[in-house]
Amino acid sequence: MNSNLAKLVTLSLSLLSVLAIATEAAPQSGEHYMMDGKPVPRSFFDAGQLVNEGTNLLRANRNQEASVKLQQAIAIAPDFAEAHHNYGLALAKLGKVPSAVEQFQLALKLKPNLDTSWLSLGGLYQSTGRVEDAIKTYKEFLTRFPNNRDAPKVASLVQGLQKEFASESKQSIAAASWLAPAAEASADDYLADVTRRGTMRWPAERMPIKVYLQSADKVPGFDPKFETILKKSFDDWAQASDGLVKFEFVTSPTQADIDVSWTSDSAKFANSAEAGETRLTSNKFGILHGVIQLLTVPLIPGILVTANRIRMISLHEIGHVLGLTGHTSNPDDAMFYSATIMDQWRTLSPRDAKTIIRLYSTNRSSPQKDGP
Ligand SMILES: [Zn+2]
Repeated sequence: MNSNLAKLVTLSLSLLSVLAIATEAAPQSGEHYMMDGKPVPRSFFDAGQLVNEGTNLLRANRNQEASVKLQQAIAIAPDFAEAHHNYGLALAKLGKVPSAVEQFQLALKLKPNLDTSWLSLGGLYQSTGRVEDAIKTYKEFLTRFPNNRDAPKVASLVQGLQKEFASESKQSIAAASWLAPAAEASADDYLADVTRRGTMRWPAERMPIKVYLQSADKVPGFDPKFETILKKSFDDWAQASDGLVKFEFVTSPTQADIDVSWTSDSAKFANSAEAGETRLTSNKFGILHGVIQLLTVPLIPGILVTANRIRMISLHEIGHVLGLTGHTSNPDDAMFYSATIMDQWRTLSPRDAKTIIRLYSTNRSSPQKDGP
């Protein structure tokens, strides 16, 4: 069986780059201030310089400093839509979600044709589990900007979201006949949520699972520290499993159970809005083979592929390859359906640990017999 485990990723983090500021000498009295070739009031000109500084800081992932500059810009020019947008972005990256939503809404009130703000607002909703708001916002974007270059991606994102959450209410979706049924719901873990398509895992006698990491030295955007983060993420899942899952890194692809590669080409993925993809092959005894691909470049220009993002995507895809094939709607879970906008280091939660422990400790009845 080959299952594409779609990972939905927000499309939203493009920075507004509209603020190229005329750099001629400061105007004398009676002269006009220009921004992007248009006359603007002095306050906008001053605020524009702060926005540019803030934008550069955002690009460098210096989000706290950026938020200070952008706040100053808004204090000078409260009607500056782009300043609100970029401030919203800074707040989102700092994890201040309600304030970020407010800023995007302000930007859109001032300038309803700011396509990027619609996308960012949708992405923010999506990444915090507000799926219905996300779909509504993306649809608004598609209605307003049908010819936008991101429109096809957004349309496929909406489809993916609708599919993902339609499947929550309907239990079984074309599960292979040999798969054990979905796990029963438990308050302590999310195993039931992520086994809606049926339950599978690596047989105990296959431990340690052999992992081969393809060389990525020639892949654009690859940084050797990504591999360190990836390895640590494998180790962290093993540790969270309380010894039930073990990995061993091997140097030859022929001995590998799991093959991991890096790519700069998101077109290789089944869903072009993804930053990672996992494929599993299984039979009635359990998982036979897994393939993980991870993206080394931003999906949208301006979104940095930071260590924190690689960490989040690594934990998520490794969860898939271990048999957590579905997604949850809780942003604190490694198997949350969306990458979050927050750029923060992620650790496996007690819920993640309990989920993997239950998957690998239950001695399930037939057809999957891999217990003693
Ligand atoms: Zn996923």
